[in-house]
Amino acid sequence: TRTIAVTGSASGIGRALAASLRERGDEVIGVDLQDAEVCADLSAPEGRARAVREVLDRAGGALDAVVACAGLSGVAVGTVTVNFFGVTAILEGLRPALARAERPRAAAVASISATQPADPEVVRACLDGDEPRAVALAERAVERGQGRLLYPSSKSALARWLRARAVSPEWAGCGIPLNAVAPGVVLTPMSAPLFEDETMREVMDRAVPMPLNGYAEPEVVAGALRWLVSPDNSHMAGQIVFVDGGAEATLRGPDV
Ligand code: NAD
Repeated sequence: TRTIAVTGSASGIGRALAASLRERGDEVIGVDLQDAEVCADLSAPEGRARAVREVLDRAGGALDAVVACAGLSGVAVGTVTVNFFGVTAILEGLRPALARAERPRAAAVASISATQPADPEVVRACLDGDEPRAVALAERAVERGQGRLLYPSSKSALARWLRARAVSPEWAGCGIPLNAVAPGVVLTPMSAPLFEDETMREVMDRAVPMPLNGYAEPEVVAGALRWLVSPDNSHMAGQIVFVDGGAEATLRGPDV
């Protein structure tokens, strides 16, 4: 039995992943605001520290994988604190326990949005690990009506952070593959509001064209995450895998 921590386990992609891992016999320690083994708010340092402590307590020192799915969309400051600082703190906080496992793995959930226009100052503050500055910049962006840039900023920062950290002595150097999936549009409670209004849906379809099989069910993204943290993945590191119905290839074209 492998013991796997999954954040965002109460809904959407995290919930689908937790269910499929359990079905296959893994022990899952879910982390979420509620309805999880570990209830913690990942938007602030205290909640992240408590989540790390309680996951380690439950895992009894042997943690085989971590998947950080918890995230927020929308125009609020929380997109930056949860999607970047919450994810990176959980991955870094649990890394020493992973390093003791025989075949440790880790993964996060980025987004097709990471390829879209972002606020470079917010991205920089995130990559500098300066949460107070990132929050101040995010508050200013919301006040100026630029809040829509925060979600892409948080995901762009996460993708950049992950590519750099994945090949560092602490991750690849300790035998821990660290990767991310980048979904297009997934049918979860997060995306549901986008379908409420025809204009919003048209804007979204232009921003995220998905020629292959359209919107994805959360189980599809969960399946890719499952492979990334399985023992089969011995050599993929620092990759952002687009599970997006062809959106990234459509938008960026053939240059890689
Ligand atoms: P969801 O809203 O169904 O699930 C997200 C989960 O994260 C929820 O259970 C929520 O309670 C939890 N969460 C949010 N804030 C938290 C906090 N402060 N502390 C602890 N837990 C918190 O959404 P989803 O679609 O399953 O999203 C999962 C991930 O996928 C997110 O990182 C999201 O950005 C990403 N993503 C989603 C889509 C999509 O179209 N749904 C597309 C690209 C990327």
